[in-house]
Amino acid sequence: MVRLDKVNKYFGSLHVMQDIDLEVAPGEVVVIIGASGSGKSTLIRCVNGLEEFQSGHITVDGNELLPYGKSGRSLQTIRTEVGMVFQQFNLFPHLSVRDNVTLAPIKVRGLSRDQAVQIADRLLDRVGIADQADKYPGQLSGGQQQRVALARALAMEPRLMLFDEPTSALDPEMIGEVLDAMRELANDGMTMMIVTHEMGFAREVADRVIFVHKGRIVEEGPPETVFDSPEHERTQSFLARVL
Ligand code: ATP
Ligand code: MG
Repeated sequence: MVRLDKVNKYFGSLHVMQDIDLEVAPGEVVVIIGASGSGKSTLIRCVNGLEEFQSGHITVDGNELLPYGKSGRSLQTIRTEVGMVFQQFNLFPHLSVRDNVTLAPIKVRGLSRDQAVQIADRLLDRVGIADQADKYPGQLSGGQQQRVALARALAMEPRLMLFDEPTSALDPEMIGEVLDAMRELANDGMTMMIVTHEMGFAREVADRVIFVHKGRIVEEGPPETVFDSPEHERTQSFLARVL
């Protein structure tokens, strides 16, 4: 579903992605961990073309992204096929919850309002907030807003979902409800790349855990292996701090 080949990216002189090779199979759930500034966000933002890179290439569902943003139409295709949920919910404050979810399906996928509403209501129900559809984002809790953001991404029927610390801005009591919705999505077979500090969740849901250090993948494997018997001393010291 996703393939990165020798991807390199710099911010000025800072080499934030160093020869990154990574493949994600359809239906696979990959969790990316690493210290602050290690390049986790940059890595997943490259996958849907939010960041340019300078060498290598990235393929998403057969569409190729090229260095320096020279990807042409495949970038548009990837943007419609890849959903993303960020730490900040980025909902449209002036639109109701339902309208937040129907906007892109109507504008980008060309669905009728009726069709889009039907899909939105089904998805809002699926993430447990069907009763909030007529409210505005400002009237919802953080956990509810993040589930709207998830429903909004799913309304585009993505082939791949990217998550960048989706629970980091939430009060502790709201983290569980968002993780539950993500867990359900994973169980339904969605291909997912997730940056998170929720190690318990990662252990439970990930097919593979990737540890990034200073722009490199230094260790990867099934969660039991990475968490319980990490090989690299960088992984060991990181886990000693967070577990
Ligand atoms: P965190 O856990 O804090 O979110 P991260 O692993 O997601 O960190 P990135 O946001 O990918 O890290 O950043 C990797 C490095 O690139 C950091 O040193 C950061 O300061 C730098 N960086 C990120 N975005 C930019 C930018 N737009 N311009 C310049 N440098 C940047
Ligand atoms: Mg980040």
